[in-house]
Amino acid sequence: MAQLLDGKAVSKILKEEIREEISQWKEKGVQPKLAVILVGDDPASVVYARSKQKVCEGIGMAFELFTMPGSTPEADVLSKIEELNKDQAVHGIMIELPLPKGIQKETVMAAVRPDKDVDGVHPINRGYILSGEEGLFPATPQSCIELLLRSGVQIAGKHVVIVGRGETVGKPLVFLILKHNATVTICHSKTPDLGAFTRQADILIAAVGRAKLIKKDMVKAGAIVVDAGINETPDGICGDVDFEAVQDVADLISPVPGGVGSLTTALIMRNVLKGIVLQGGAK
Ligand code: NAP
Repeated sequence: MAQLLDGKAVSKILKEEIREEISQWKEKGVQPKLAVILVGDDPASVVYARSKQKVCEGIGMAFELFTMPGSTPEADVLSKIEELNKDQAVHGIMIELPLPKGIQKETVMAAVRPDKDVDGVHPINRGYILSGEEGLFPATPQSCIELLLRSGVQIAGKHVVIVGRGETVGKPLVFLILKHNATVTICHSKTPDLGAFTRQADILIAAVGRAKLIKKDMVKAGAIVVDAGINETPDGICGDVDFEAVQDVADLISPVPGGVGSLTTALIMRNVLKGIVLQGGAK
C-alpha cells in the first residue's frame, strides 16, 4: 500500500518558512504585499481571492483586493494594472481568472510587470522557464516539485512521465523537472497507447483534467505518483488518478484533495517574496 505525499503537511512547513521570511523583510522596513484584481463576480474566483486573503493574514503579508464590475472596459483593467506596477508598496499582482467576455486574457497577463507576475504567466517568465534563468514561475508545477523534494524523493536521474501539456501545469513542469536533472517524457491526448508510456515512469505526474484517467494497470510497481488534476464529479472532487486502485501498486501517491493543490497558495506567496528580490529588495 502506497504512502501519502502529504500536501497539507508540506504546506504547513512552507507557510512557516514564508512567515519567517516576511518577518525578516519587515525588520528591513519592507511590508510584503499581494494585490489581487477580480473583474466580475465569478463565484469560484471570489472564493479563491478570499482564501488568498486569509492565508496572507495568517502569515503577515499585506493583501489588497480590487474588485471591478464585469462590464469594466479592458482599458480600465489595464490602467489599474499599470497603477499597481508602479506602486512600490505592491510586490505581487494576480488577476483572477476567468475574465469576463470582451477582456483579452493574454493582453491583461502581459500588462503585469514580469517581476510582480506571481502567477508566472507573463511571456517573459515563460521564456525564463525555458532558458533556466530566474523568474516567477506558476505555482502548480512548483507544487509538484516541492511535494516530491520535501517528501524525500530524489528527482535527479529518474524517468519522469508527465501526462498533459497544458500551459498552466504540464508544459512549464517539463522545464522545471528538467532543471532537476530527470529524464522527461510528456504525453497528451494524441499519445497512442498512453499506458505504454506511463508504465515506464519512475515518477508519474498527471495534469490532465480527466477524472481517474490513470488506472492501476498504467502504473509500474513501486512508482511515485503525483496527481495535479482537479475534477468535479457527482461524488465530489477527485484527481486524474484512480487513487483507490493505484495506491495498491505505487510506493508514494498524492491524494486529491490534500496533495498538489494544498501547496499552491503558499507558493504564490513565496513568489511574492521572490518578486521583492527581483524588484531590487529593500531600498
Ligand atoms: P489543460 O490546459 O486543459 O491541459 C490538459 C492536457 O491534458 C492537454 O495537454 C491534453 O492534451 C491532455 N489530455 C486530455 N485528455 C487526455 C487523455 N485522455 N489522455 C492524455 N492526455 C489528455 O489543463 P491544465 O490547465 O494544464 O490543468 C490540468 C489539470 O490540472 C486540470 O485537472 C486542472 O484542474 C488541474 N489544475 C490543478 C491546479 C492545482 O492547484 N492543483 C491548478 C491548475 C490546474 P492535448 O494538449 O492534446 O489537448
